[in-house]
Amino acid sequence: MTIDTGSARPVVELKPAAMLPVIEIFGPTVQGEGRLVGTPCHFVRFGGCDYRCSWCDTPFAVLPEEVRKNAVRMGPKDIRRELDYLDGAPLWVIVSGGNPAILPLAPFIDHLHDRGFKVALETQGSKYPKWLHMVDLLTLSPKPPSSGMVTDFDVLDEIISGAIETEQAVDVKIVIFNEDDFQYAREVSARYNMGMRMQNSDFRFFLSQGTNVGQSTRDDLLDAAVNLMERSLRDPYLCKAAVAVQQHVLYWGHRRGV
Ligand code: SF4
Repeated sequence: MTIDTGSARPVVELKPAAMLPVIEIFGPTVQGEGRLVGTPCHFVRFGGCDYRCSWCDTPFAVLPEEVRKNAVRMGPKDIRRELDYLDGAPLWVIVSGGNPAILPLAPFIDHLHDRGFKVALETQGSKYPKWLHMVDLLTLSPKPPSSGMVTDFDVLDEIISGAIETEQAVDVKIVIFNEDDFQYAREVSARYNMGMRMQNSDFRFFLSQGTNVGQSTRDDLLDAAVNLMERSLRDPYLCKAAVAVQQHVLYWGHRRGV
């Protein structure tokens, strides 16, 4: 079976649905970051990731032994049924991980669209399954040097080119912990000409103040965000970026399931 995902979108081959490693399904809650900040949503978190970021705040969805322990294998219909049991009636489902781009999610996204949901998905941009362009909002969060990971810009270039071609809504988000990360954000902005991209395509660019799980207080987070904002506003490469504080961390800290 194939589906046409929209006028400018590619035709995606739908293979039989695989069983997917689900770590958590929860909602209603609000999205804490990006252009949907404050928007009611349900969350689906999948297990498995090809990265091992030094400051990862979801190791329970990354480390293979944790994923084996925590994940429940579910098909797209089962996940949709679980979403139907939740309270509220948000428009959006946020798909996160781990890195959900390592999984065959085309049938799952198709199910969510059939049910009337809009789908936002976050990935670091290290893998490029063509179904990425089925989602209504793609958040690309390439990881800066403090993560200990190295960005594969060939893959990221392809994803961004595909998003421009398909006129997809894209949030590019970079977490900033230190000076090297700030310089990395400048490089990403220059590489993808983010200022022009935001004018001519449905792209938005966010800098997000990094938080140390269990260490950063709300005041630390706000102070660091103000510093980042004051600096980026005067930087030629970052002056059009929105500086965002992870609102869910402000509200709930790093508690799971909110
Ligand atoms: S890419 Fe995201 S989920 Fe994967 S290790 Fe890094 S922070 Fe964790």
